[in-house]
Amino acid sequence: MTNRWMDGCPFCRIVRGETSTRLLYQDDLVTAFPDIHPIAPHHYLIVPNVHLESVNEVAPEHEAALGRMFIVARHLAETYHVAQSGYRLIVNTGPHAGQSVFHLHMHFIAGRHMPFRA
Ligand code: AMP
Ligand code: ZN
Repeated sequence: MTNRWMDGCPFCRIVRGETSTRLLYQDDLVTAFPDIHPIAPHHYLIVPNVHLESVNEVAPEHEAALGRMFIVARHLAETYHVAQSGYRLIVNTGPHAGQSVFHLHMHFIAGRHMPFRA
């Protein structure tokens, strides 16, 4: 299951190292890389290596990868010295949330004040 990937999925291609995208972190479960259109000084994406379209496909077998995404978020916060100033983690799911890439991803956003409140 962990080798499942999708033809034509941009994030599967990044995970497999088929693009020039600079990887910030990669292990057996997850990959992190810069967002191509950053909305803040630090804007990174953390994705499971397995292709899941969205949170709507999440199942118990994905627990390890989903947990690792938070471990990597903390790692990025410390690496980029924003753990104390703060950061936002966002997982858009479906049309109302404006999800545009259908490979589950967590946005890591930091380096400026974020006025919007959920
Ligand atoms: P979402 O709206 O949550 O689906 O966000 C998708 C994000 O992926 C957007 O912030 C895009 O800028 C970003 N993105 C799309 N294609 C790429 C790519 N090839 N490399 C890095 N980031 C990308
Ligand atoms: Zn994918």
